[in-house]
Amino acid sequence: MGIDWEKVKEEAIQILSDYIKIDTTNPPGKELPGAFYLQSFLQKEGLPAMVLESQPERGNLFCAMKGTDNLSPLILLHHIDVVPAEAEKWKNPPYSGALIDGEVWGRGTQDCKSLGVIELVAFLLLAREGFKPKRDIVYLATADEETGGKWGVGWLFQNHPQLMKADYVINEGGGIGMAVGQRNVYTCQTAEKGICWLKLTFRGKPGHGSVPHDDNCVVKMAKAIDKISSYRSSLRRTLTTEKFIKGIAEEQSFPRSFMLKQLLNPLFSRSVEKRIPDAGLKGMLGAILRNTFVPTVVQAGQKTNVIPSECSFQVDCRILPGVEPEMIKAEVRELLGDFRDYDMEILQTSPASESPANNALYQMLEKTLKRLDPKSKMIPTMLTGATDSRFFREKGTVAYGFQPMIPTQNLSEYLGRVHGHDERLSAESLLFGTRLLYEMLKDFCG
Ligand SMILES: [Zn+2]
Repeated sequence: MGIDWEKVKEEAIQILSDYIKIDTTNPPGKELPGAFYLQSFLQKEGLPAMVLESQPERGNLFCAMKGTDNLSPLILLHHIDVVPAEAEKWKNPPYSGALIDGEVWGRGTQDCKSLGVIELVAFLLLAREGFKPKRDIVYLATADEETGGKWGVGWLFQNHPQLMKADYVINEGGGIGMAVGQRNVYTCQTAEKGICWLKLTFRGKPGHGSVPHDDNCVVKMAKAIDKISSYRSSLRRTLTTEKFIKGIAEEQSFPRSFMLKQLLNPLFSRSVEKRIPDAGLKGMLGAILRNTFVPTVVQAGQKTNVIPSECSFQVDCRILPGVEPEMIKAEVRELLGDFRDYDMEILQTSPASESPANNALYQMLEKTLKRLDPKSKMIPTMLTGATDSRFFREKGTVAYGFQPMIPTQNLSEYLGRVHGHDERLSAESLLFGTRLLYEMLKDFCG
């Protein structure tokens, strides 16, 4: 008997709509009601879903569908928490979960409660038909991703490491469809940049603001900020970015196809990048081709008439796979060669992460996608930010960001709604993702 996909769509809409109504804004988080809500659907099917509390009101949910063979699990991951919403700037309230013109509205409909629903419904469909997977399929919903994962995936690795062992993870951060030329190109997030946050402290001669002198630390710091913000690190090719650029270029006609490939050429990369008309695309491409340095926090004097003896600024530096913090420090020191009287410290760092785009799971995602959308092409992408996938990749688990959605005509508008206003997702995308995941899991784990 075939599946009634219209009915599945109705079910997915209803589950998402009610999930959006549970406010899990982080901070403070309060994901526990979200975890109980998801647990109720799993328990209805007789599945052993455990809620694990990392802190009062911070909940994580774990549920395994047992495999028949002794293979390492595949985890379906998403995070329960969402970022705050400026309700007064939305056309429809952010916690309404309303279905309007075929779209579900609300904070989390894109990032990433919808993924949680797609994974849940695919999981429920398999359970209802008595599917016996070869490997464990784990449904995992976690807390705290939006503020770093300390009480979510980070906590689970610390406190329940045996539950986190897996060969594969499917998570957020990819699956976005774009109409490019004659094709529908879908991203599969295989890599994420890391961070290396720096603080630079400048020293100088203190004094009275009424008497100018040449050793004012604020002035030295301002020059250093200018130097760092106008600096572009050199091109650094990675497996993911190479495949991504080539994959997009192949869908363009000449001379655009040729130009795009020059982004990977150290001689022409910068000049091609500068000529990309779309500012959002230019920024994104630039950020996956090199390490970036963005000055953010500045702390200087306290009083208008006092020249301070010390001041500092912080740099949000994002690093590519294979880059070590010490390499970044050396790069900044070289850049600030003429500058004296400053110290540099690393405030926080975590490495970039990358999973190979050539294994059995990648190929199965590609194959299933092709079956549901014959015009599709999947390409690996790198995220400039970070998701919980990094915790898994650190342990050698292959993690892909993949929530397939109906191709968008306006990518920057779609991306702008993530963490922005009027976040929403079409019911068709919800169904497309559910169906693809269900079919893929059946083939890959059956
Ligand atoms: Zn997210």
